[in-house]
Amino acid sequence: MDLSDTPEEEEFRARLREWLAKVLPTLPARPSPDDWPGRRAYDLGWQRTLHDAGYADVHWGASPTTRLIFLEETERAGAPYVGANFVGLLHAGPTIAAEGTPAQRARWLPHILRGDEVWCQGFSEPDAGSDLAALRTRAWRDGDDYVVSGSKIWTSHAEVADWCELLVRTDPRAPRHRGITWLAMPMDADGVTVRPLRTLAGSAEFAEVFLDEVRVPAANRVGEENDGWRVTLVTLSFERGTAFVGEVVACRRVLGELARAARDNGRWDDPVLRRRIGRLAAEFRALWRLTQWNVSEAEASGGVPGAGGSVFKLRYSHARQELYDTAADVLGPDGLDLDRPWVLDRLSSLSYTIAAGTSQIQRDIVAERVLGLPKGR
Ligand SMILES: Cc1cc2nc3c(=O)[nH]c(=O)nc-3n(C[C@H](O)[C@H](O)[C@H](O)COP(=O)(O)OP(=O)(O)OC[C@H]3O[C@@H](n4cnc5c(N)ncnc54)[C@H](O)[C@@H]3O)c2cc1C
Repeated sequence: MDLSDTPEEEEFRARLREWLAKVLPTLPARPSPDDWPGRRAYDLGWQRTLHDAGYADVHWGASPTTRLIFLEETERAGAPYVGANFVGLLHAGPTIAAEGTPAQRARWLPHILRGDEVWCQGFSEPDAGSDLAALRTRAWRDGDDYVVSGSKIWTSHAEVADWCELLVRTDPRAPRHRGITWLAMPMDADGVTVRPLRTLAGSAEFAEVFLDEVRVPAANRVGEENDGWRVTLVTLSFERGTAFVGEVVACRRVLGELARAARDNGRWDDPVLRRRIGRLAAEFRALWRLTQWNVSEAEASGGVPGAGGSVFKLRYSHARQELYDTAADVLGPDGLDLDRPWVLDRLSSLSYTIAAGTSQIQRDIVAERVLGLPKGR
């Protein structure tokens, strides 16, 4: 695999860099983590800016290398993160692009790309996280609608979402993986109640969602009825395979800042710390190469990332935790001050080995689907 830029890619990179240098200084100040309406407006505003400049379709329309250049350059320049657009842009959108009908693609994708609509993910339930096929939220057909009752938990951005990629059980008598359906549910439908949950870092990043006889048009079903597990695997492969990619670049940037801070405060004299920083630099470099490989493999096999995404997710989430543990070492006693940079990131880094499937589950996937080891050791 040749990883160097072609002349066209070099030109794309240069143009994007120039555009970012012009546009970033004009952005408004970022809202505080607790200001959800402000965060929604800010994140959608950035997506609209990208759209108007012709960069919005980089997640689905462009070549994989172009997408990686985009992620590399936006992160390097300190551009806003996808934020509230996370689910829509990085996994609901790609799932609809891969599995939706032409009418569904036309209905939802332009709004995600233009930054008009926010999506959330209603997969997990109180007794269905790692064992997602245990989900119990029921949906039954009534005329042109499904009627949905049950509850979801850990639904990130539910407070500001317009749509939810929702998993429901449509055939309770079928084997667990066969009776599930993937629906796009409007969050303003009657019977949807959102109750925010507060995280360790203090903000209400996610919520419980209660569903009481919510009517969802059958036209919002992506894939066939009872074939939702297959569609879900597509969503999860995007979630684990490509959704965290941009963050690797951010981690490389933070590592550079850490090294500078350690030089300034004298911690750099500690050879153990220097070795840790060096090892992490090598790890993030390797993760970036793995990303390039995963993304081009995905493109070669029809656009959907494979189980290699679990290798990436597993290593990335642990490397991220080590990065912010190292930041705490560099900060010393200041590492307890929530107003210092990196301190909230350290708290939130704990969630990365749980969200999108825990490390134990990723290890099982890698063992069975990448290494071909027998199931149920
Ligand atoms: C920050 C964050 C954001 C999230 N956002 C969303 C969201 O937007 N939408 C959504 O649907 N969900 C979301 N989740 C939920 C997330 O997907 C689940 O927390 C995750 O899948 C784990 O499920 P659980 O919490 O039910 O843990 P459990 O399944 O109860 O697992 C508990 C522990 O047991 C281990 N375990 C369970 N089964 C096995 C096994 N077979 N082998 C070995 N170990 C096992 C697990 O690894 C874990 O350590 C989010 C979670 C976090 C932390």
